[in-house]
Amino acid sequence: MSGTVLLGYDVESASDSTAGFLDGAAELHTRFDVPWSIYLVGTTVEARVDDILRHVDDPLLTIGQHTYSHMLLKSIYMDPRDGKEVHGGAQTYFMPGGALGELEVEIAKTQQVIRDLLGVECEGLTGPWGYYRGLADREDILRVLHENGIRWARTNARDFRDCQPVPFTQQPYFYEQQGYPDILELGIQGYQDDFYWDRFDDRRHGDTYQDYLFATVEEVAANDWVWNLCSHDHGTFTAEMFHATKGKWLGDFIERAKDVGVRFASPKQVYDEMVAAREAAAE
Ligand SMILES: [Zn+2]
Repeated sequence: MSGTVLLGYDVESASDSTAGFLDGAAELHTRFDVPWSIYLVGTTVEARVDDILRHVDDPLLTIGQHTYSHMLLKSIYMDPRDGKEVHGGAQTYFMPGGALGELEVEIAKTQQVIRDLLGVECEGLTGPWGYYRGLADREDILRVLHENGIRWARTNARDFRDCQPVPFTQQPYFYEQQGYPDILELGIQGYQDDFYWDRFDDRRHGDTYQDYLFATVEEVAANDWVWNLCSHDHGTFTAEMFHATKGKWLGDFIERAKDVGVRFASPKQVYDEMVAAREAAAE
């Protein structure tokens, strides 16, 4: 058995949920000694800087960004074709992405906020909402990321319907053909959180998200896949609320993954391993 899991969280609520989530997640990851990443919205950093500073020196933690105002890098058009409403409206859903000039400001400003307020040089980004094919069709946005020092990204996070799950055939890749061989796309395989699993009603493995996680991590181990698993700082006003809700399935998941022989890694670790593998293959 093998396989690799990365645990990465969007921290974007700019509320008490930010503090509760970070405190709870830090306890969880310390207890299990597994790395974690957070992708910070710039306005959340400004609003909750002390909550974040408590954890900046955590050796298990990697800090990435999630744009300044949660602006989408690409437009999405969700069309699940399952006869059910999307986000409480019609059976399709459109969300516009930012213009390139706006994205330049959003990404540069967030790098600056993280540098000034947290003292961190940020190299990672999660694209708000996630997109089909990530940025494989957007060399212009990759240029903006590259100019701002971003070297790994989670943007490949929707399927061809602009929905989920993202199939596990979507493994991490470098944006070589686009001219950015030093930017790694990690993707978000599967669902972006428990509430998306629920919306897309994936009961193939049982009635709970945990059933899905347990069955999927066995596939990850059997196929030696990378799984970049995602969650959010939503509804976690205290660390106790974190432990009673998503901390519960996260903890059970970590234990299960360890049982089936999957390892946990940081984005930088996967990045360095894939660069080394590429260099070895070229020799
Ligand atoms: Zn987000």
